[in-house]
Amino acid sequence: MIEKSLKIYQSTKNKINALSYAMYMINWDSETEAPVGCLEERSKQLGNITEMIVSLSHKKTYVNALKDIIANKDKVDEITWLSASKEFEELEKELKVPSKELVNYQILLATSGQTWLEAKQTNNYKHFAPKLDKIITWQKKYIKYLETPNCKGYNVLLDTYEKGFTEEDYDKFFDTLRTELVPFVKEILSKKPIDDSFNKEYYPIELQKEFAKYLLKVMCFDKTKNVIKESEHPFTTGYGTTDERITCHYYDHLLTSFIFSIIHEMGHATYEKNCDPKFDDTALSGGSTMAMHESQSRFYENIVGRSYQFWKTHYPILKQTFVEQLKDISLDQFYRAINKVENSLIRTEADELTYSLHVIIRYEIEKLLINDKIKVSELPTVWNEKYKEYLGVEPKSDKEGVLQDVHWSDGSFGYFPSYALGNLYGAQMLNKMLKDEPHIYDEISKGNLNSVHQWLNKNVHVYGNLYDPSDLIKKITGEELKAKYFLKYLDDKYKEIYKY
Ligand code: ZN
Repeated sequence: MIEKSLKIYQSTKNKINALSYAMYMINWDSETEAPVGCLEERSKQLGNITEMIVSLSHKKTYVNALKDIIANKDKVDEITWLSASKEFEELEKELKVPSKELVNYQILLATSGQTWLEAKQTNNYKHFAPKLDKIITWQKKYIKYLETPNCKGYNVLLDTYEKGFTEEDYDKFFDTLRTELVPFVKEILSKKPIDDSFNKEYYPIELQKEFAKYLLKVMCFDKTKNVIKESEHPFTTGYGTTDERITCHYYDHLLTSFIFSIIHEMGHATYEKNCDPKFDDTALSGGSTMAMHESQSRFYENIVGRSYQFWKTHYPILKQTFVEQLKDISLDQFYRAINKVENSLIRTEADELTYSLHVIIRYEIEKLLINDKIKVSELPTVWNEKYKEYLGVEPKSDKEGVLQDVHWSDGSFGYFPSYALGNLYGAQMLNKMLKDEPHIYDEISKGNLNSVHQWLNKNVHVYGNLYDPSDLIKKITGEELKAKYFLKYLDDKYKEIYKY
């Protein structure tokens, strides 16, 4: 019997994988190169593919094969069993939602990204609002389908991205962060401001691309497995361990934006590329949760990429690329500028210290939206009020306010808290890494990232999606997730930069 189940499982899985791969390619194309005119046709075909995947994975024979495999743990290999268990867990959720609704939702999402982009480019929130309203309505319906006595409301969405973490957990972490960070930020901002005006000089995009090539080499970009293109909002996508793609965005009057987005996205790509290849084509590939993913991208971007030691080797190269613009800027000035604390409007450009406050604002707004406390039409006002309250700044346009992030246009409600959690995971890992490899920063200052790569590969990347995040962080560091390591990291770093 189990042989028959394994046969059904594998043949169905092959078909689902092929369709998922096609979908992956279409989505990549639509974010990078597809002409706007193909939008309708693309949406139609994406709808068809979704329908094919749904009909395959919801088939009774397939569901029964999964159940049979799960019940026969001793008769199947470990990876098949674990993958089938994870797939069944997801499928069980999906089966609670009528398939027609799932397909319609995919069709809605296929055009909402473009609508968001048009709204952002023309600074017209009203253009996006009706689609956003539909997406939120769907999220609320989705919650109702999936609710259990132990997991209700917004928790259903949070659990999708970070299994086991609830509103209660986030409230606790975010309260600690808010209590510690708000006065610390105030104190820092009372110091003499850092001059980073050089960052807004003119930096020809051709030269930025030249430095990007160098940076990609530093980040172990592998032409046989990696691709880089441009898009409005930088992101990473991938399939298995052999195909990781990143995008970036160049601004001719902003030097550091492309640098840190490339390091960030390569952090995601490195994670996926270094998962154990035996997980390819299974539910164990691609890394653990979103927050664990963010912990890796932000580890490379901030802990490594915004360190003095990193730029000791690479700043001279950057200076050679932009001879005129950086001729009077020393390494020390550059380092302080890339870590300048500022109450800014844009999350992706925020420094490490204020970053969490941007996330907390989005977390609170999502709670309000999902719990029917505010309407979509009120969103820009609420957004601006919160920015004033937490960061003391107010957006002059929705483009630099509520329309800045892509996430809500693709239905990623519950995702934002992952970014803040990623910082906590990363700092706790750093603490352990420095115990294992005390000379790591010396090596970074010599331009050598091997020990960082190796430590992260061995302790995080290789496991793919084998463990839940709370188990993984305990396995890596010997303790549960704590906010104190991140706060200590910030305290040490910023007191030194602002010379207390
Ligand atoms: Zn990221």
